[in-house]
Amino acid sequence: MRLRNVPGAREAIAANDYVVHDETSMKGKWHELFGNDNPVHIEVGMGKGKFIMQLAAENPDINYVGIEKYSSVLLRALQKMEEEPLPNLYFIRMDAEYIADVFDKDEVDRIYLNFSDPWPKDRHAGRRLTSSRFLGKYDQFLVPDGRVIFKSDNRDLFDFSLKEVPKAGWILENSTYDLHNSEYVEGNIMTEYESRFVAEGKPICRLVTYRNKN
Ligand code: SAM
Repeated sequence: MRLRNVPGAREAIAANDYVVHDETSMKGKWHELFGNDNPVHIEVGMGKGKFIMQLAAENPDINYVGIEKYSSVLLRALQKMEEEPLPNLYFIRMDAEYIADVFDKDEVDRIYLNFSDPWPKDRHAGRRLTSSRFLGKYDQFLVPDGRVIFKSDNRDLFDFSLKEVPKAGWILENSTYDLHNSEYVEGNIMTEYESRFVAEGKPICRLVTYRNKN
């Protein structure tokens, strides 16, 4: 969803109070920033932010952090935030590659991965946000009973992810190849990509995973 060459996107983001600019200095200090001890849920690769903004509006007792790699995409979320500011939501413009530098041990309670880039070439498998390599990063800051919740329309990426879960030593709590015709659809919030795929009649896959830390 890269929107190329949006003039001034970087400058607009640099001047925006909803964006955490020095994200590595926030490691261990997220609760201080939010000013409470509420759980912290993050979305990695949030795009224009429809999903996380709806969650934040509906759940004022949960803190949210949306992470997006591209300024031009993040800008769209910031424009929406200006219209409807949410005290329990911040954004970071960064590559998730460095995510373990931003959150400290036990600082995050839930990770959402929605329609993550598939990186179809084998040699790029480690870049997939559900790879065992990335699960290893999440392991460093997710609370012991924390969950990673992943939705995708991409069957190859989803099947890969199902295999990565045990490979990383994680446990599959549940999964479905057709979320919208399953028991798990209740309470589901659609992302921007999901709305598009559902309108096209594509089934949505979803899995929930956690580690055995007890
Ligand atoms: N989650 C949104 C949705 O479901 O509507 C957007 C999905 S879009 C296909 C994937 C998004 O993830 C893009 O906005 C992309 O820039 C972002 N992204 C991909 N790799 C990323 C990474 N390594 N770090 C941060 N964001 C990333």
